[in-house]
Amino acid sequence: MKRALLALALVVVVLAAVTLERTVSFPSRQPQVAPVAVEPLDTAALARRLAGALRFKTISFQDSSQFDAREFEGLHRYLRDSFPKLHAALKLTRVNGYGLLYEWTGSDPGLAPLVLLAHQDVVPIEPGTEGRWTEPPFEGRIAAGYVWGRGALDDKGSLVGLLEAVEHLVAAGTKPRRTLYLAFGYDEEVGGRRGAARIAELLAARNVHPEFVLDEGGALATGLITGLAAPAALIGIAEKGYVTVELTAQAEGGHSSMPPPATAVGILAAAITRLEAHQMPRAIRGPTADMFDYLGPEMSFAPRLVMANRWLLGGILTGRFGTTPQGNALLRTTTAPTVLQAGVKENVLPSTARALVNFRILPGDSVANVQRTVADSRIGVRALEATFSNPSPVTPVEAEPFQLLARTIRQVVPGAVVTPWLVVGGTDSRHYARLTANVLRFVGATIGKDDLRRVHGTDERVGVQAYADAVRIYIQLLKNALP
Ligand SMILES: [Zn+2]
Repeated sequence: MKRALLALALVVVVLAAVTLERTVSFPSRQPQVAPVAVEPLDTAALARRLAGALRFKTISFQDSSQFDAREFEGLHRYLRDSFPKLHAALKLTRVNGYGLLYEWTGSDPGLAPLVLLAHQDVVPIEPGTEGRWTEPPFEGRIAAGYVWGRGALDDKGSLVGLLEAVEHLVAAGTKPRRTLYLAFGYDEEVGGRRGAARIAELLAARNVHPEFVLDEGGALATGLITGLAAPAALIGIAEKGYVTVELTAQAEGGHSSMPPPATAVGILAAAITRLEAHQMPRAIRGPTADMFDYLGPEMSFAPRLVMANRWLLGGILTGRFGTTPQGNALLRTTTAPTVLQAGVKENVLPSTARALVNFRILPGDSVANVQRTVADSRIGVRALEATFSNPSPVTPVEAEPFQLLARTIRQVVPGAVVTPWLVVGGTDSRHYARLTANVLRFVGATIGKDDLRRVHGTDERVGVQAYADAVRIYIQLLKNALP
């Protein structure tokens, strides 16, 4: 007995020593760079030009017949008028109607080009919520230190910000050695097949193999990560896959005065309950494992200890981290029932009940086990093929493009903690995955917790200073990468 206790004590001491050692020696992965001088920019003029772009209702509707070409043409004219030097120096190709591909030809054809992406389209305002906006969504107002309107963050801030950066460099007389492409799709919010996919095809046909592709997806986040005081620069190195699955239950229809023991509605409801109760397993791997390796060393003792010792404390980490919907989404393939349909009259049993369940697929996962979880011969399961996309490849963090962006961010925002990140939504960049292994998803605007609900929601806005900083990051990135 005594010997067993002694052995146990020894195990505890050894474990404590190993975890402590790993915590103390958990190496920082932040690149060490000297800050650059703040690029002098006319922030009020920047805000005004962004605000102007928000006035065009370049909306992507689910129903493509509502597409309003005049709004896109208006935006194109506006960009031409607002960035005259850029339009004189760069070649512009219109792709498949409204896609815009700018080329700033470099002097050294031996250098792989850069491709920077943004999208022109925005999501509609949910009917009935128009009145909730502090400032109207399509008037491009500047108030209380913010530029307000649909697209301020997603994604006209990137689009106009990229143009600002290039206009600035053209004005300064920059002659790039490396070729730069700016590629602006126009249907990202409905999948990007007419815009980004076609531009990527064109680049592939021209044999363009970019050094890297940069798109939206991550940002400079403050207050989003508990235990981290510094702003976190979330650089998306992968994005989740996507599939919507249709569940159909069949049963005897008829008069509701004599219901059978199992109804279509009941069978379907049980299937959805099972799906929600048996979530796909949580795992720390890929981009999320990289994220803990980058964040951990910069955090206070307790979270640092946990992140440094995932071999022992991984369960605690997934448990704590997975309590928020945002954290949960980084750890597993998520299951979200979104549509439920059955019945036409209150006293008639429907013979069919139908549900749609949206899955966001973690890199390394598949939806094959969805069928197994539902496992009920009375339920038809069918993936809606048009919605399907695989998880993206994962951009290597040791490679130069990730490191270059990480250095750039820390040059402009000293003290920011850079980290790899898994983007849980979809971006246009997935159409470019075949052109390069290095796809980075990052916009340099600072966002807080409260901004997550503003994107695609009410009161979308970007801070005037935050936007100027985003432009400074683009400028510095181009200075670092182009010459
Ligand atoms: Zn977007």
